[in-house]
Amino acid sequence: MQSSEGKTKRPPKSSRVLLENLNDEFWMNFALAEAQQAVAANEVPIGAVIVLDNRIIGSGYNQPISKCDPTAHAEIVALREAARHVANYRLTDATMYVTIEPCAMCAGALVNARIKRLVYGASEPRQGAVNSIFQICTNSSLNHQIEITAGIKEAECKTFMQAFFKARR
Ligand SMILES: [Zn+2]
Repeated sequence: MQSSEGKTKRPPKSSRVLLENLNDEFWMNFALAEAQQAVAANEVPIGAVIVLDNRIIGSGYNQPISKCDPTAHAEIVALREAARHVANYRLTDATMYVTIEPCAMCAGALVNARIKRLVYGASEPRQGAVNSIFQICTNSSLNHQIEITAGIKEAECKTFMQAFFKARR
């Protein structure tokens, strides 16, 4: 509401949403670049970055095969780097950008890290645990809920996955 003595200069809501989307697309490009690295390593192409105060503080791509580590998903690799970077196991004000909807393990880790916001590209109908088969990040029974934005650069994120699985057939 505007008061008589000072006019607030906030842009209308629609343009704020647009700006936020542009920003999300900007950061999603870095997650896509991470996914590209997974392609090069012949791993399922998923990439993630964690952003705090307009800076990337952690990044990772999916690498369970090469690392012989079932937990080496893009999100976990990025979370470990970000937590080391801020020397804190909680990432309260950070946003994660990931190309594909996180699995149950990663969604759980994001809740444990108290991530503020999660932005993902394409949904994962078989394993996705944010919207698709479970809703871990917004479950009110847990002690932390995450703001979710889905569908940012969805086509590009999906294309990586489709090309990968097509090449394997
Ligand atoms: Zn995962």
